[in-house]
Amino acid sequence: MDCLFTNIKSLIGIRQKEEKRLSGQAMKELPQLPQAWLAVRRGRISAFGKMEDTALLEQHADLPQFDCSGRILMPCWCDSHTHLVFAAWRAEEFELKIKGFTYEQIAAQGGGILNSARKLSDTDEEILYEQAWQRLTEIIDQGTGAVEIKSGYGLSVEGELKMLRVIARLKASAPIPIKATFLGAHALPAEYRHRRQDYIRLILEEMLPRIADAHLADYCDVFCENGFFTPEETDQILQAAWKYGLKPKIHANQLARSGGVQAGVRNYAVSVDHLEQIDEEEISALQASSTIATLLPAAAFFLRLPYPPARRMLEAGLTVALASDYNPGSCPSGRMSFVVSLACIQMRMTPAEAINAATLNGACAMELEDELGSITIGKRANLILTKPISSVAEIPYRFGIDLIEKVFIS
Ligand SMILES: [Zn+2]
Repeated sequence: MDCLFTNIKSLIGIRQKEEKRLSGQAMKELPQLPQAWLAVRRGRISAFGKMEDTALLEQHADLPQFDCSGRILMPCWCDSHTHLVFAAWRAEEFELKIKGFTYEQIAAQGGGILNSARKLSDTDEEILYEQAWQRLTEIIDQGTGAVEIKSGYGLSVEGELKMLRVIARLKASAPIPIKATFLGAHALPAEYRHRRQDYIRLILEEMLPRIADAHLADYCDVFCENGFFTPEETDQILQAAWKYGLKPKIHANQLARSGGVQAGVRNYAVSVDHLEQIDEEEISALQASSTIATLLPAAAFFLRLPYPPARRMLEAGLTVALASDYNPGSCPSGRMSFVVSLACIQMRMTPAEAINAATLNGACAMELEDELGSITIGKRANLILTKPISSVAEIPYRFGIDLIEKVFIS
């Protein structure tokens, strides 16, 4: 698409091409241009400037115009952690959670991830695709312009391949970039309860080679938690995945200080995600690495878990990203504006820090920082146009309110 956006009240998130990730102090700044215009040619940002620079603006007079008076234009959210391919919602577990059952107790009763795995195996691939397509369309309407999607409800060779094929179809037909993550080590299937090593072997010897062979995944994830997979098992799986060219992006330290952060760092993970339970030891490990700390506050909100100590992480100079964790068990919403609100309200990130974490750093957590996440010449024009608002801080401030007027993809 070609378009000239004019009279933009404020153009948010302007970055040089060289600014690929933001850490610690640098996240405080959210560069913006008031009274701006922006030109898009062939779906990419080709130029921008101030309305008063009329000579420059006139060079783009050939483009169809879109008047943005009173409204803010900003990069789309980059949601680097979702499980949006699933067979059914789990509203029945919602009530158990309200009554006080813990995540671990629900999992022990055959609920949780294993419940989703059962439902997934009973659902036709075509139906899975149609449902996931609906969810994808829904998050795009809510401002998401790039997304990562995990498998992990298959938990068998066929089940995992089925999920990853659905993700591959979404990738091929979606208007936004999608990254696929293999999460065979999401939970131990019931039939393997007393033979863990057999399931690990299935991942290493059957799932990984077949997935790699069919080019069905970009990343490999492990749920490294007490009661799920140990740091040693995580090492084993991630090292095998590296051999197939799948980089790690892992679940770590949601329920306890599981050693997952250190496992991620020593296996050169792109990101370690969750981090509700984290101390100085994990923060030091992250400081000495290039691994991104991805926080999922909407999952902490839904499960009533403590929030990750985002301020401490920012003081330590870490690269912090925000993602939704959209999934039927612990975060049945992919609305990134709400994630940004929670980051501000519950984790005391400033609106600028939270927006940077949900845009450029989210892109970086999917290795899409050259394509998305900021207003940079040459990047894809995946853009959010807000409703008339006074400043971009209104997005997190007016939590739960839809302040997005229109989303432009390419
Ligand atoms: Zn997750």
